[in-house]
Amino acid sequence: MQNLLHNLNPEQLAAVTLPAQSALILAGAGSGKTRVLTTRIAWLVQTGQISANGILAVTFTNKAAKEMLMRLSAMLPINTRGLWIGTFHGLCNRLLRAHHRDAGLPQTFQILDSADQLSFIKRLLKANNVDDEKYPPRTLMYFINGAKDSGLRASEVEAYDAIERKMVELYDLYDQQCQREGVVDFAELLLRSYELLSRNQPLREHYQARFKHILVDEFQDTNDLQYKWLKLLAGQHGAVFAVGDDDQSIYAFRGANVGNMSAFEREFRVQNLIKLEQNYRSHGHILDAANTLIANNSKRLGKNLRTDAGHGEPVRVYEATSDIQEAQWIVEEAKNLIREGSLRSEIAILYRSNAQSRVIEHSLFTSGIPYRVYGGQRYFERAEIKHAIAYLQLMDNPHNDSAFLRVVNFPARGIGARSLEQLQDAAKQYNLSLYAAVPYVAGKAGSSLSSFVKLIEGARFETQQLPLPEMVQIVLEVSSLIEHYQTEKEGADRIENLEQLVNAATLFVSEEGFGLDAPALAGPASQATPNVITIADGVEIIDADAALPAVMSPLSAFLSHASLEAGDNQAQAGQDALQLMTVHSAKGLEFDAVFISGLEEGLFPHENSAKEEGGAEEERRLMYVAITRARKRLYMSFSQTRMLHGQTRYNMRSRFFDELPEEAMKWLSPKTQPSWFASSKSAWDESPSTGANTIAQSFNKNAWRIGESVFHAKFGEGVIVNIEGSGANSRAHINFGRHGMKLLDLSIAKLDKI
Ligand code: ATP
Ligand code: MG
Repeated sequence: MQNLLHNLNPEQLAAVTLPAQSALILAGAGSGKTRVLTTRIAWLVQTGQISANGILAVTFTNKAAKEMLMRLSAMLPINTRGLWIGTFHGLCNRLLRAHHRDAGLPQTFQILDSADQLSFIKRLLKANNVDDEKYPPRTLMYFINGAKDSGLRASEVEAYDAIERKMVELYDLYDQQCQREGVVDFAELLLRSYELLSRNQPLREHYQARFKHILVDEFQDTNDLQYKWLKLLAGQHGAVFAVGDDDQSIYAFRGANVGNMSAFEREFRVQNLIKLEQNYRSHGHILDAANTLIANNSKRLGKNLRTDAGHGEPVRVYEATSDIQEAQWIVEEAKNLIREGSLRSEIAILYRSNAQSRVIEHSLFTSGIPYRVYGGQRYFERAEIKHAIAYLQLMDNPHNDSAFLRVVNFPARGIGARSLEQLQDAAKQYNLSLYAAVPYVAGKAGSSLSSFVKLIEGARFETQQLPLPEMVQIVLEVSSLIEHYQTEKEGADRIENLEQLVNAATLFVSEEGFGLDAPALAGPASQATPNVITIADGVEIIDADAALPAVMSPLSAFLSHASLEAGDNQAQAGQDALQLMTVHSAKGLEFDAVFISGLEEGLFPHENSAKEEGGAEEERRLMYVAITRARKRLYMSFSQTRMLHGQTRYNMRSRFFDELPEEAMKWLSPKTQPSWFASSKSAWDESPSTGANTIAQSFNKNAWRIGESVFHAKFGEGVIVNIEGSGANSRAHINFGRHGMKLLDLSIAKLDKI
């Protein structure tokens, strides 16, 4: 038996070995929260306080869940596959599959990812003749998700005006349509399983008795419904062990509520609040940068971090003239690190927005450095993969209209808009899915649609005994997808991606323990050998083992995985590659060296944050997360110009540079005067919306605009990159190219528009 505890400091040890009551571990980045949580699971099991089946642990990403399972299997001689460790979505998916009847869902229900959800809503609006200018699909999507995240069904949402009443009505129609098609969106996974547990007393009591220990990582980012879900599952006696860091709360825009931390302390009667202040991750200068920056936030629960590691290297800052040059600099520095012996996978390049990755990828590509992009366009979101997945979805659940519409005429088989209109009318008239309505369409349209149905049914028949990878292979052929891309000029890459889907399926079934021969369509194993628990009042509950084979067919499981997983290109997994990702997706991770790129006003902090209350503080927390990912080396960069979304932007360096300790920084290019906002910072920070408005109004009044080209007698042509102050006091930062950046008083300077 290993001694699990000898590598812990006294506070960590106290946290790991707390009695079975609810506890809150509130601690800064890199202080060992995740390590404490994982070690506690191992300790509870090793000391025989609970069997591994009695534990439920929630992580923020699938990647984090995998890592936790790996660490656990190194600490404990158990099979970790059936453990209830995963994301909220992943755990709810398993629960709903196991109890789909009680939850009112078909066993093969399918999960809509965000892109699917948006097109679903567009379709719904069209079918109901709703003006999508008045009710933009995206707005409706946020409305629906927001309501679900707060635990509200359409009948429970209060509407205050005609527009809201209409939105509520559409929300209701949306839910009905989802039910008809057997599809659920992300928020529904959680809401449906919450409702399942709250309405079904025997089931609830069963799981409450089972999960005596619930552990939650990144607790600061739970939303209201997740909090309620945890509370329900814990019941009166469950012990919830929550770890979190209020300074790393970065999902308020998605409904995360950092207030859950104080609610938790109160409502779970937390007697043990432990703070960890020793940081084990980062060298001194990096930690100083993080501490000094975050001290600018006013809403904090208050804690600090210290390290025993020396100062280490200073944080290197670089100012580039263009985004391309910035990328080249990053690649050069990364090459130096690799030359010095660093693993590529220990180097991360972070950015605020996905759109920034393209230029960096280009530079890496031309230098021949292998890299992996996380987030970004997920493998499963590529058009060709979506098409293949749609065929598979139809074989699993033909009533998924989104999947049907995606491929009914792709590759083209002569089914035009008119035929589909006829089909949609029939489906509406008989209240059927499109697939089921096909027999009601007459004439030529009817016969082409029937041959599509035959194609799907034929593929289903042909593959019913086959394992998943072979099924995928056959679908690629009978759908004619491969053939179609062979005729396309740029089709080779797509064919390669499609072929990788077979590899992805192979890897998936073996990793999840399905067995390589298990027929893709065979139902869950637990139905063959039900593990029935009879509850006293006669209600039978089949206990859900969290291992996928116990609750889903290989095909259903693979399709869930395609919607829920980050879906990085699995064929590349295992290769030593540089890591590219947004700051959001870097949460919880650590690397020897980290580059934070694009530190410019408007980009990081993001311009949208100026519109949100508390937006500035959230951006600063995001920057804190970015900084604290680094162990030994940290680089920051910004650029004078940047092409984004087809436009050249002229940005000032980020305000964050003025909030970092000079002693910890090393400017590789001379640091110029403080950024424009230094004077207006407090206004922006305390009241972001008014601050931003004053600036915005000033543009209008004096009619000068950011981005406008001007001519100055002495400096020549320039571009306005920023305007501060208002009325007679307004001044502009103008980039005059060769003459550099000038700050000019707009009421005095003689400027002409070009
Ligand atoms: P974050 O807030 O970023 O999620 P965290 O608080 O979860 O960070 P961990 O990831 O658990 O921190 O730990 C940070 C690093 O410090 C890890 O590499 C971990 O192994 C190491 N570490 C934690 N505690 C100790 C310890 N007592 N001795 C040595 N190393 C430790
Ligand atoms: Mg962590």
